[in-house]
Amino acid sequence: MPELPEITVLATQMTAELKGRTIGAVDVVQPKCLNVPAEEFARGMTGQMLGETRQRGKWLLTSLSGGGSLAINLGMGGDLYYHAPGVETTHPYQVRVAFGDGAALTARFWWFGHVHLVPPPGQGTHEPTAVLGPSPLGLSAEEFERLAAGSRASGVKSFLLDQRKLAGVGNVYGQDPLWLARIHPLRKLGSLSTEELRALYAALRTVLETSIAKRGLQYERDLYGAAGGYGRDDYAVAYREGEACPRCGAAIEKIKTGGTSSFVCPACQVR
Ligand SMILES: [Zn+2]
Repeated sequence: MPELPEITVLATQMTAELKGRTIGAVDVVQPKCLNVPAEEFARGMTGQMLGETRQRGKWLLTSLSGGGSLAINLGMGGDLYYHAPGVETTHPYQVRVAFGDGAALTARFWWFGHVHLVPPPGQGTHEPTAVLGPSPLGLSAEEFERLAAGSRASGVKSFLLDQRKLAGVGNVYGQDPLWLARIHPLRKLGSLSTEELRALYAALRTVLETSIAKRGLQYERDLYGAAGGYGRDDYAVAYREGEACPRCGAAIEKIKTGGTSSFVCPACQVR
């Protein structure tokens, strides 16, 4: 599932490739991912010029010339591709947006995902993006501390993954920042010292920014189908059960933390 770094990479590429292009036709063969009937979606999109695309949590938001937006969430196993003019784009599970010159954008879903038409401001809200918390990369250390102070009873890992509290971090990027900051994922936010909160804030930014610089995860694809460069070698403890902690050598453990699994060093991250 793409998280903040992968969505940021896609947003940058979409803006560079698609800004200023006008939608000529829309073909929906996967209507389940839409928030409106397929005919309404096609009518609302056709003729619109695409503006900037920005990352918002795990969503891509592209402004449309009519004042609304196109909101895409790749969910689990979804792909978003740009196709140059003349390239074959049929697929059994996709929404295809074609431009005047024959180029196209396709959103393909193997399991679930969303392609939503968002009304212009003042004409309705888009609940899934309206409820999102701030981006960890858009917060100062003080703002992060204030945010944490509002959720003292939350477990620190569930806080990091709660999109309404902090948007964009999922189970991949929620692992190593806790190890870097030496914090057990099940500790309550209210039990963290200011130093620990600052270490967590810095670690979170480091991990996310490192992945963005490497164009996201190795098992995710960008707008042109290329894999990212952030992979197993970059993980400290994530998905390394049984291996040695890079800091102290203790065996990394995989534990259940609510609905997710966490990878921790039992010596560096004491509950
Ligand atoms: Zn350790």
